[in-house]
Amino acid sequence: MERGKQKADLSGRKRLPEWMRMRMPGGDHYMHVREQVNKHGLHTICSSGNCPNIGECWGEGTATFMILGEVCTRACKFCAVKTGKPLDGG
Ligand code: SF4
Repeated sequence: MERGKQKADLSGRKRLPEWMRMRMPGGDHYMHVREQVNKHGLHTICSSGNCPNIGECWGEGTATFMILGEVCTRACKFCAVKTGKPLDGG
């Protein structure tokens, strides 16, 4: 299909081009990464930031960890990570 042209489905609605569509998260690698993250109570920017690539990256066994926790002191408008004052550990 020509890039930029939208194909219509049977109801006549335009569909996103293939290169713009995301795979649903799933598969053995994805499930394994998710299990490990949950089991060990890890924080990843992938899930904390609601990254749209999570299906693809976790599906290939890749994740990016937030080693100092799930809270960020910044409040960037485009980011879904929780904003606040991290625990000082003391
Ligand atoms: S590793 Fe992949 S899913 Fe995680 S934040 Fe980076 S692009 Fe997103």
